[in-house]
Amino acid sequence: MTEGERRAALEAIAAEVRDCTRCRLHEARRHAVPGEGSPDTEVVFVGEGPGQNEDEQGRPFVGAAGGLLTELLRSIGWRREDVFITNVVKCRPPGNRDPEPDEIAACAPYLRRQLEALDPAVVVTLGRFSLGTFMPGARIGTAHGTSRPVDPSRGAAAAQAFAMYHPAAAFRQAQLRETLFTDMAALPELLLRSRESRAASGVADASAPDAGAAAPLGAEAGAADPQALEEGLLEAALAVRAPELADGQAGDPDQMRLF
Ligand code: URA
Ligand code: SF4
Repeated sequence: MTEGERRAALEAIAAEVRDCTRCRLHEARRHAVPGEGSPDTEVVFVGEGPGQNEDEQGRPFVGAAGGLLTELLRSIGWRREDVFITNVVKCRPPGNRDPEPDEIAACAPYLRRQLEALDPAVVVTLGRFSLGTFMPGARIGTAHGTSRPVDPSRGAAAAQAFAMYHPAAAFRQAQLRETLFTDMAALPELLLRSRESRAASGVADASAPDAGAAAPLGAEAGAADPQALEEGLLEAALAVRAPELADGQAGDPDQMRLF
């Protein structure tokens, strides 16, 4: 898919979500929240469902949990707009109750189609319900900070799922804040590994990202974790981008599709 095709596919899904009545969550919503971000990204964050702020604005992770998610991204030198952020259910469960299994099932095709369009290298699960979707049977207490291949039936055909606590968990249990930052620090290396295995299996040519997607690892290296720099991970990321940067062809999707 070209960048334009991905963008169009994502917009078509978002339009369906905004009018969706497939489950009871449409009854009390103000705005459905399809998700947002770069159509070229290699990394998709999947939360649980919209809260009050998200329901009011129609955008994901714009409240307190969203503030912490943005901080977590900054801690590894990434920006919100470089990734794609969405949820397991696209409409707010009344009173922020847990989503019901039948609601999650009704909404699952939208997430699957978003992942088919984006074809990410990494899906980051935020919290229990997202974990349950991408690592069935896993428990957050032991799975957080670890990855496993995503079942292709979920839409992401060649992705690693990476489990994290939900950012809101840190508001209830203060020590989880540090856990979140520690787990986040492992994400750039996982992205590099997933890129490599996609390239080795020939997936990357058809689906690798272009300018927006390369940005998470490269663009903001100055803000990144010094330890990651020491390990050479960000240098490696910059090195893979070097040819098209040197050629001044950062905007040429065919050049980018090499990886
Ligand atoms: N919590 C979520 O799981 N998703 C959002 O979009 C906001 C808060
Ligand atoms: Fe439709 Fe999903 Fe909203 Fe239910 S939660 S009404 S399935 S968009």
